Amino acid sequence: MALSKVVGRFIGVRRHVVDPGGGGAPRVPGEVEALVVGGGIAGMSAAVVLAERGVRVTVLEAAPTLGGRLGAWPEPLGHGEQRNEHGFHAFFRQYYNWRSILRRADPHLAFLKPIPGYPILSRRWPTEEFGKLPPAPPMNLLTLLARSPSLRLADLRAMDRDAALPLLTYHPERTYAEFDDTTADALLHSLRLPDRARAMLFEVFSHSFFNHEAEMSAAEMIAQFHFYLLGNPEGLAFDCPDRDYATAIWDPLRRHVERHGGRMLTGTPATRLDRTPGGWRVGTAGGDAHQARHVVLAVDPPALARLVAGSPVLGGAAPRLVARMPAFGRPGPPYAVARYWMDGDVRPDRAVFSGVSRAATLDSVTLYHRLEDEPRRWAARTGGSVVELHAYACEAGVPAEVLAERMLAELVELWPEAADLRVRDLRARVEAQAPAFTPGSHAGRPGVRTDADGLYLAGDGIRTEFPSALMERSAATGIIAANHILRAEGAAAERVHSVRPRGLLARR
Ligand SMILES: Cc1cc2nc3c(=O)[nH]c(=O)nc-3n(C[C@H](O)[C@H](O)[C@H](O)COP(=O)(O)OP(=O)(O)OC[C@H]3O[C@@H](n4cnc5c(N)ncnc54)[C@H](O)[C@@H]3O)c2cc1C
Repeated sequence: MALSKVVGRFIGVRRHVVDPGGGGAPRVPGEVEALVVGGGIAGMSAAVVLAERGVRVTVLEAAPTLGGRLGAWPEPLGHGEQRNEHGFHAFFRQYYNWRSILRRADPHLAFLKPIPGYPILSRRWPTEEFGKLPPAPPMNLLTLLARSPSLRLADLRAMDRDAALPLLTYHPERTYAEFDDTTADALLHSLRLPDRARAMLFEVFSHSFFNHEAEMSAAEMIAQFHFYLLGNPEGLAFDCPDRDYATAIWDPLRRHVERHGGRMLTGTPATRLDRTPGGWRVGTAGGDAHQARHVVLAVDPPALARLVAGSPVLGGAAPRLVARMPAFGRPGPPYAVARYWMDGDVRPDRAVFSGVSRAATLDSVTLYHRLEDEPRRWAARTGGSVVELHAYACEAGVPAEVLAERMLAELVELWPEAADLRVRDLRARVEAQAPAFTPGSHAGRPGVRTDADGLYLAGDGIRTEFPSALMERSAATGIIAANHILRAEGAAAERVHSVRPRGLLARR
């Protein structure tokens, strides 16, 4: 075991159990039905756990394919059909709950391949490398401070160390009580870091949460620092599937749920909830209705707000949920994803995935032809490349093609050889579905349990009482929703894990 992990374990930086699970029958006694609305990570995590325990689960998914923001679909291109995806995803190693669901698709997670390096690029400053740090704190932090070209000893002396203390003292209640009304921008400003250190070490990080620092709660940023860097024994290194998400994840998970008696109805948007004597009826756009004792709403925030608004019964059955929707349903800023099929390649030493700091639009670059099987084969056959560019929190109202053009121009400023590549095909999208973590939003953030009996929420915007984020929060809340149902029905619950629950210097 790496020395940093041994030291980390000694101070409690290890995998923690937040729900031991168990406690009931291996399968629900009797007939129990559940409906899961949304077939992304949250919904499918709930469906997997419920189906395994004998609950007759039906997933209603609006899109033609499963996966939501991790979806993949066949894309007709000028040169033939290829899989396209919602966008590059880093599968961090402290995603314990998501990985446990993924083990149902592949017990050895053999499809997840380590990505060597996690460079942060900038036009103004030397590259910062996040991927080659020791995995666990405090050694990862000390190494980062000692090695970072963006931060010198004099900078550390000049910085306001008291202002930095909250980063090390994350607490699931106190941090929100003290910092949720402050912006991440104000917190970063108070550190008195040189501009370069702020840009290279902090800003890339906050952009990855699909929120601008000026509109993001400082408490959320502290929580994410804890989850990704300061409370997690696995490090900032991550893995990625070596094939598209449908082949690697969604097809096997669908088969797994079906083997356990579950059903997946894609192309089936839910439009409204009504109460029945024994539970709930969910109406769909096609006019069908499905009934079950339990319902998990595992949709993105704007979709949840629409569904709640379209269900007048919730005004009486779940008034607190209804009251929270206007704020919760407003998504974070739009994000843009552009995938380019090019007629040549960038330099061989360019990293598979790079973060980008302080470009006007571009936040990351992924070389898919060095990552997944199908683009790799296409590039080998044609001499081309498949490059994906992301903007995680971009200007509203700008068309996807314009954002794609801007991102490509910014890539050329970083990697001049990209100027020689001719675009054979481009698929560009701009969407706004990510949850917003605005200052002051924590108190009104809905949790998994709603005020209506048998109605649960799951997703990456749903509150957890332990550190989690993004894909891992979706999986964790999906499992927690399933656990509520299993416990109510007398069946054993699933174990839930997280990282160290509090910061290294937090008082108990
Ligand atoms: C470009 C991009 C890059 C990302 N990179 C990372 C990363 O590197 N690491 C990471 O951890 N996370 C990353 N994320 C975040 C991650 O994708 C999300 O946190 C996660 O996929 C959310 O899953 P979910 O199930 O909560 O929601 P979603 O994936 O949004 O799933 C909700 C589902 O509900 C369906 N739905 C909506 N309305 C209805 C309705 N009325 N009826 C039926 N179905 C409905 C939707 O079609 C969708 O399938 C990234 C996201 C994006 C967009």
